Amino acid sequence: MTVRRRSLALALLPAPALAQAPPHVVVIGGGFGGASGARALRGHGLGVTLVEPNPTYTACPFSNAVIAGLRPMQQQRFGYAGLRTQGITVLHAAATGIDAVARRVTLGDGSVLGYDRLLLAPGIALRFDALPGYDEAASALLPHAWQAGAQTELLARQIEAMEDGGTIVMAIPANPYRCPPGPYERASLIAHVLRTRKPRSKLLVLDAKDAFSKQRLFESAWAALYPGLLEYVPLSAGGRVTGVEAEGRAVVTDFTTHHGDVVNVIPPQRAGDIARIAGATDRSGWCPIDPASFESRLLPRVHVIGDAAIAGAMPKSAFAANAQARVCAAAMAALLRGTAVQTPKLLNTCYSLVAPSYGISVAGAYQPSNGLLADIAGAGGTSPIDAPAAVRAAEAAYAEDWFETITADAFG
Ligand code: FAD
Repeated sequence: MTVRRRSLALALLPAPALAQAPPHVVVIGGGFGGASGARALRGHGLGVTLVEPNPTYTACPFSNAVIAGLRPMQQQRFGYAGLRTQGITVLHAAATGIDAVARRVTLGDGSVLGYDRLLLAPGIALRFDALPGYDEAASALLPHAWQAGAQTELLARQIEAMEDGGTIVMAIPANPYRCPPGPYERASLIAHVLRTRKPRSKLLVLDAKDAFSKQRLFESAWAALYPGLLEYVPLSAGGRVTGVEAEGRAVVTDFTTHHGDVVNVIPPQRAGDIARIAGATDRSGWCPIDPASFESRLLPRVHVIGDAAIAGAMPKSAFAANAQARVCAAAMAALLRGTAVQTPKLLNTCYSLVAPSYGISVAGAYQPSNGLLADIAGAGGTSPIDAPAAVRAAEAAYAEDWFETITADAFG
């Protein structure tokens, strides 16, 4: 009797539920975009394989505090055990090739993965061909520290070892690049180190542009906290670095050569190499996408999120990569199941520290418009320019809370 009931129940089950595995997505890159995307895709009931070479991810947000000796590097590191417990297959390998027609990814060991759709989130590559004299070997002397890890620790060590009375030079690129306010947060926290521990020293900040994120907030904080210590040189005053002399610890501008005891060169950037190898980048070096689904405009069934994507008004930030991951995962699930892709609204907030317990922020909201992600007018803003110290301290605490939340969401 029991046996007969069971076979009846089986007979009533719809055939596909027994026969078909869910559609499968391969995610390339296990940073803020890829890890968040893998989890969101899994949440939609899809099969997910994440491909990431490193067993430990080292986060850039708050790495400027590590450089300033205000935070241990250990707090920047995250593993992938949390993703595995969600049922995500995590492979520690680099993707070396993508065949978007055959829907196949080749890994460094020669193995091949098939997919129904592909999510590309490889972050940035540093353009070591863009500044004469600044290649990978030069970055061992003049660190960029724009990909967190050994470079972050190298710059921290160099600043720590510099004698009081020394000069630190920073070179900041033109847009677009990863984390628009990041260089100015770094300048602020380095200035904090000098003010508190090496007060006879100087920081020279050379910029290849005239305007930057949260500029009024940064400049008023610099005037109040670091007068005579931090000198900012914009493009129009000769701030654009055109070459680097690594052995001489110097950078060259249109007007002169600046020598430093420590030199931090942040070079121009483009999408991670695998995006170019796949054919997902345009002449800008970044990946054009549809702003509702994040599907590549160049490769079918391939979606691109995070720093690698051209996301219009949305900045290249961890917050943005995480927000894009959720929207993109929902769109991929809809496309795989043949339902409509919703028109999204996305948010971003970027916090910066200008000193310990002194935080400022900029927030924005974005939606598709004319094929790009555009600002939603009136929906964003920055911290007030004349806020009391308690507000700045609260924003510094919110920044910490944000970091805990986003890293738990991506890796927890
Ligand atoms: P990433 O996080 O770089 O991840 C890309 C991943 O792809 C990497 O793990 C890499 O190993 C992997 N990968 C690359 N190629 C391959 C391949 N061929 N195969 C497999 N895997 C591959 N953002 C904020 O929101 N708030 C902040 O306060 C903030 N502060 C910052 C401070 C600094 C100093 C810097 C440099 C950045 C900061 N950012 C901040 C920006 C933030 O770090 C990036 O925007 C974010 O990491 C982008 O996420 P992503 O997933 O696109 O790229």
